[in-house]
Amino acid sequence: MNIDSIKNGIVIDHIQAKKALEIYKALKLEELDCSVALITNAKSKKMGRKDIIKIDKNIDLDLNILGYLDPNITINIIKDDKRVEKYHVELPKQIINIIKCKNPRCITSTEQELSHIFILTDKEKRKYRCKYCESLSDE
Ligand code: ZN
Repeated sequence: MNIDSIKNGIVIDHIQAKKALEIYKALKLEELDCSVALITNAKSKKMGRKDIIKIDKNIDLDLNILGYLDPNITINIIKDDKRVEKYHVELPKQIINIIKCKNPRCITSTEQELSHIFILTDKEKRKYRCKYCESLSDE
């Protein structure tokens, strides 16, 4: 895989510097069977330094969580050497198993097998509440 360009795939750009690994894990990219390149500390006019992830295949990937982790990230879809789509990811309506409820009385602290689900309650303030006990996520 050529690091500079991919023919068909997804480029996750403008990741905050040093955050690529976190994004990689959140998207479970280790489960993919195609090439994935992590570029850290790339020079950026806009950001000074940034990270980039290149996925060498046009796969159907749920990128919603990126809107929560880093709203400045841009997604580029590459087809036949051309960028056919570029967009920012909106805040997801719900987040599953990324943040944990800190309320000790919440059912998720006793029922270990339950998913930690947070629902978007305030888009402007980027606030999420636990689906079970309605505790706010502490961001
Ligand atoms: Zn809770």
